[in-house]
Amino acid sequence: MVNLTNFIPENFMFAKNIFFKSLLIVKKKTKIKADISVLMPMKFNELGLMPSLLKAVNEKGYTDPSPIQEKAIPLILRRKDVLASAQTGTGKTAGFTLPLLQILSKQSNSNHRKIKALILTPTRELAAQIYDNVIEYSRHLELRSTVIFGGVNQKPQVSKIRSGIDILIATPGRLLDLENQRLLSLRNVEILVLDEADRMLDMGFQRDINKIMNLLPSKRQNLLFSATFSKEIKRLAKGILNDPAMVETSPQNTTVEAIVQYVYNVDKNKKSSLIIQLIKEGNWKQVLVFTRTKHGANNLCKKMIKADISAAAIHGNKSQGARTRALAGFKDGSVEILVATDIAARGLDIPLLPHVINFELPNIPEDYVHRIGRTGRAGAKGEAISLVCIDEKQYLKDIEKLVNLRIPSKIKQGFEPDPNAVPEPAKQKNRNNFNRNKGRSNRNRNNYRK
Ligand code: AMP
Repeated sequence: MVNLTNFIPENFMFAKNIFFKSLLIVKKKTKIKADISVLMPMKFNELGLMPSLLKAVNEKGYTDPSPIQEKAIPLILRRKDVLASAQTGTGKTAGFTLPLLQILSKQSNSNHRKIKALILTPTRELAAQIYDNVIEYSRHLELRSTVIFGGVNQKPQVSKIRSGIDILIATPGRLLDLENQRLLSLRNVEILVLDEADRMLDMGFQRDINKIMNLLPSKRQNLLFSATFSKEIKRLAKGILNDPAMVETSPQNTTVEAIVQYVYNVDKNKKSSLIIQLIKEGNWKQVLVFTRTKHGANNLCKKMIKADISAAAIHGNKSQGARTRALAGFKDGSVEILVATDIAARGLDIPLLPHVINFELPNIPEDYVHRIGRTGRAGAKGEAISLVCIDEKQYLKDIEKLVNLRIPSKIKQGFEPDPNAVPEPAKQKNRNNFNRNKGRSNRNRNNYRK
């Protein structure tokens, strides 16, 4: 008898119906007699979670745990250090939050209302999002949490910490800032979560992470989540984790299978009109658009507004208030198009996003995977469209190599690219969609190859 579980694409397992559909395909193709009992998706109540957490999960409407949850939750409950690779949209937040809440809520009260769990994230939006999740999952527990990040007044954050909290979600900069002012202490931290660790390194947080490690007690449980397992991540993990269990739920850099990907070949100067036409023709109401620069995001946003499309830009030069408003508007539908740079968009949780458009391809191929991971989430279908001009052909090749896929290309009538166009000479410029570039790795940074 063969255990077919290994053959099932990991990200298909969210929704039961999709799960069983994939099983049928597998069965047909392989003609192997399957032992159905080993194919049943695991239930949340088989993971060792306490009733109040199961109740919260049920209220969120989740039926089955995702693969990362199935694997990580029991390990974390056994107090193992965990090194997990998980693509965006795989349910990793619940994967670490649920067991963390259980561990803390079962403890005696000796360290009552002292920070016992620290969740570090690279961006403000991701921090806010994780906080929302923590609040939802802990709604039937007696635990308190808060979130801190830069760009906003520290006073309300400090008063919340002073009132006593068990769980702190933080971006590295504001955390160190408050610690330097002696406004918080990390001496009682028992569980550390580093979320989106690869992006933290990309954003130059290595030194901040090192400083934070020195503020934590040496005896603690460590959980590190990263979309990729690069050499740098392995090095970071080695310095932080203690005999970690590895959890890998999907092959590195493969794109989620529920995403339909294609490319429109188009001249650079016609991209704005093409994107506007696509949005209007398709009557698309929730589209995340990526540009390579903040300036590009602003420009495109202005053009869309001029064309009567409700759009907002989100990037590092926007105030925190503007970023929060843009995201809230996008989520409630009052903003139809969100134009974002890679860093700003990282970690945004916008459930069931139907369309992602790359107005420009990223020059770092891994960013393509992160970008399109914003659609086709949790088993839903999504479309990822890239507008590619002649200067970007090399980026496309690099991306196709990384995802091991030939992305089909189309030409839109009326937007045929100039057959005589020649690529522009290589420009040497830094990826400039965020300010914190001190100390970050130079891997792939300046290579605007043509
Ligand atoms: P994350 O990867 O943590 O950002 O989660 C991605 C999305 O999946 C979020 O909108 C979650 O609310 C949702 N989600 C998390 N776990 C499950 C689950 N077991 N079943 C269905 N949806 C889930």
